[in-house]
This record gives sequence, structure tokens and C-alpha cells, in this order.
Amino acid sequence: MATTPVATDPILVAIDGPAGSGKSSVSRAAAEQMGFGILDTGAAYRALAWACHEDAVDLDSEDAVLAMLDGWTYAITLRGEQRVQVTLPGGSEAFDVSAVIRTPEISGQVSRVSKHPGVRVRLNTMFRDIVASSGLPGVVIEGRDITTVVAPDAPVRILMTASPEVRATRRAGELPGASHEQVLADIMARDTKDAAVVDFLTPAPGVTLIDTSDMNFGQSIQAVIDTVDEARGARPSNDKEQR
Ligand code: C5P
Repeated sequence: MATTPVATDPILVAIDGPAGSGKSSVSRAAAEQMGFGILDTGAAYRALAWACHEDAVDLDSEDAVLAMLDGWTYAITLRGEQRVQVTLPGGSEAFDVSAVIRTPEISGQVSRVSKHPGVRVRLNTMFRDIVASSGLPGVVIEGRDITTVVAPDAPVRILMTASPEVRATRRAGELPGASHEQVLADIMARDTKDAAVVDFLTPAPGVTLIDTSDMNFGQSIQAVIDTVDEARGARPSNDKEQR
């Protein structure tokens, strides 16, 4: 007799942290090694800021930003090269915004949309829906409030940090022409605005802290994979390196 396969929820790996902690690039590489998908939630906040800017919507008006959420469509790839697509309200063209949402102009504006509580509730529902319908064995979901609000029951919850100096050095390396001082100032300004909305600088109870200040890329990826393995019972916790 044929049996219907039972749909199982993907294993969730929740990772929070500030800009430049390594969160995005490390999460992506760790997800790839584990055969999991990766959901970058910051990309949605960035794409929303881009869409509001494009349609001359006031980013400081929660009602106006919510109306944008009613009318837009948003799509992100969870495997392979990350592509982010947005269709504006009333439009038919899907814009590939993967690159434009990473510009300093958008980075400087995105806190204006992420500060609205109602916007966060709507995006969090969207994130949970994307994960639930992914059809993948596991998804790494990364952002600022994933371990505390979006997926507080995830079996693996990590807060990835690094010192502001290290974070600025990494970000300056990604932005040609940007000075270390300017990048540090931008990071500190964005941290301050974002931290007024969610606390992503101290781990909530039960959340594993991974400080990547003295780790290279490979060590940071391994630290995430070790934490996932431990949670899945693949190896005992007492042989874990000091982090
Ligand atoms: O992670 P990334 O730096 O791309 O995030 C961009 C912005 O999106 C953050 O500065 C923050 O304002 C917002 N964000 C958020 N909550 C998340 C992810 C991102 O408020 N879960």
C-alpha cells in the first residue's frame, strides 16, 4: 500500500548578531555545508526600505510602510546564490534588488522601517511562512531578533558577536573606498538605532554566544556547525572549545 510522506518541519538554526559580526557570511557558509537553506531576514528589511524609497513612501510612517507591505511581493532564494526580488504595488515587473539593498544609502535608511512594531510583526509572519514552505531539511535564519522573537523555540539558537573594531575592519574590507573610521561610525550609529528596538548584543537565556573577534572565517563556520551538531546529539558537549 502506498504511504503518503509525512511533511516534517525543517530544523531551525536561529542566529542573531550585529553588522560585521560575521553573522551573514558565516551563516551562509555553515548552511551550505550542512545542506540547509539560509534565510537572511535583514534582506527583507532592506528591500522594504528600498521599495518605500522607490515609491516615495514616508519610511517614518508606520501606516504607509504597512500599506507597502499590503501591495508588494517579496521573494528570496534560500539555496545557492542569494537573489532578492521585489514587485512594487500595482506593478508587474519583478526587480532584482540583490545588489542595491547592500548600498550604504539603504543601510543608512533601513532602521527607519525596522523601528515600527507592526511592520516587524508582519515580516516575522512572512519569515515563518517562508521557512515552513521551504521543503528543506533545515534552515538557518539570521537577523537581530530570531533567537528571541521569530523562533524562540528553535533547537539551535546562537548570538554571534565581535568587537566593534573587528566588525568595522571586516565591513571596510567589503566596501571599497570606505575608511575604517567612517565604517566604524556608521556601524555604531546603526547598532544604537537597532538596539533601541531589539537587544541583539547580549544573549537571551539558553542562547549560545559565539564571539568571532579572534576567529577566522573557517573557525567561525566550524563553531556554528559544532553548536548544531551538539544540539542534534552528534557529539558530547564537553569537548567543545572555549569560545
Ligand atoms: O542584517 P543586516 O545588517 O542586513 O540588517 C539590516 C537592518 O535590518 C538592520 O540594521 C535592522 O535595522 C534590520 N533588521 C531587523 N531585524 C532583523 C534583521 C534586520 O530589525 N531580524
